[in-house]
Amino acid sequence: MTGRRAIPAPIRVGEHLVHGLPVDAQTRCVHWATELDVLAILFPCCDRWYPCHDCHAADADHEAATWPASDGAREALLCGVCGSTSTIDAYRATSRCGGCGRAFNPSCARHHHLYFD
Ligand SMILES: [Zn+2]
Ligand SMILES: [Zn+2]
Ligand SMILES: [Zn+2]
Repeated sequence: MTGRRAIPAPIRVGEHLVHGLPVDAQTRCVHWATELDVLAILFPCCDRWYPCHDCHAADADHEAATWPASDGAREALLCGVCGSTSTIDAYRATSRCGGCGRAFNPSCARHHHLYFD
């Protein structure tokens, strides 16, 4: 654990730890911090939650992998408001949390290619 740039300790959201550069307890990060940015994503390459792709790049020592289309049933989205997870298929269909109904940032759809095949 030496020689790496300083990364803050992960935050706990529900039962999960969120890594990278989060700035509050609802998974906002230094890159995305509006009222709507309360979503973390599980990365298949390392099985870790990050607020965004840039947080993964800042923390991980490898290229980010994307979820194959066949993994749509995986619980890979984490709501920072209630701590519940949603499947990739459900998230892509509604852009809302299946637990509390919170609407996620619609602009995230522009970046789906960074996370999903
Ligand atoms: Zn990774
Ligand atoms: Zn980030
Ligand atoms: Zn929620």
